[in-house]
Amino acid sequence: MGELTFLAVHAHPDDEATSTGGLYRLLADQGVRTVLVTCTNGECGDDPEGAKPDADHHDADLVAAVRAKELDQAVDVLGIDRLIRLGYRDSGMMGWPQNDDPESFWATPVSDAAARLAEILNEERPQVVVTYNEVGFYGHPDHIQANRITRAALALIDYEPTLYYNAIPDSVMEIMRARWEEEGRRQAEADAAKGIVREPEGPPTVDGEPLNMGTPDDHIGATIDVSGVTDAKYDALAAHASQIGDSFWMKMSRDEFRLAMGTEWFARVTNPRDLEGNVTDIFAGYR
Ligand SMILES: [Zn+2]
Repeated sequence: MGELTFLAVHAHPDDEATSTGGLYRLLADQGVRTVLVTCTNGECGDDPEGAKPDADHHDADLVAAVRAKELDQAVDVLGIDRLIRLGYRDSGMMGWPQNDDPESFWATPVSDAAARLAEILNEERPQVVVTYNEVGFYGHPDHIQANRITRAALALIDYEPTLYYNAIPDSVMEIMRARWEEEGRRQAEADAAKGIVREPEGPPTVDGEPLNMGTPDDHIGATIDVSGVTDAKYDALAAHASQIGDSFWMKMSRDEFRLAMGTEWFARVTNPRDLEGNVTDIFAGYR
């Protein structure tokens, strides 16, 4: 078999680190060629002063410039061989006015972006491709669009790679949800003690329905042990300081991070190699 190549299609700078950071570093260490397609520039992130995108003084172009540098650093840390920025504008969350910007990823016809992605796939010919599921894992328009263009691009090329969606098993999601709820309660109590009343943040929804971000455990097609490379994953996340500098990940010590973030899961969508069950190597069937 020729060179092994892995390609992931991600929506924003930082998504490569959060959902595939361990896998990228692991594959790079194995000598696999790794390619990252980042669809948007991430203009709707927090600006360097911490301003949210709906604030008057939020500078979208400055955010994009900062995030471009952060992405370069994460790519370095993860040993990614080739980064391709499709350069669409961040569409923001569902219902935001940025959805309608003609240069936004969401407003871009799927066929246009898919044609560009198909060109990259034809050139790189990855055996394994990763993106998000049909609801973009958590309902973000740019993540949904990443799914759509990836599926459309795969229909345009002359071979079938193994496609996986990043996933969190229901059993793990349950534990995480309990932790978030606990964290939310603690925050609300701390706020109440200071006389602050905050509207609790509800779970993400799609078309008004609460979204289950978990995947049934028996639908997990690949469980990857990345416990040996969690320091690199930590450093890749830390590279995206403007967005996740104060996230729960960065509040963990490296030891806590190693214990909590040592596994990445994926659901198998296409299966040209007739794999069965849950594999431990994302290139199972190819080596
Ligand atoms: Zn994202």
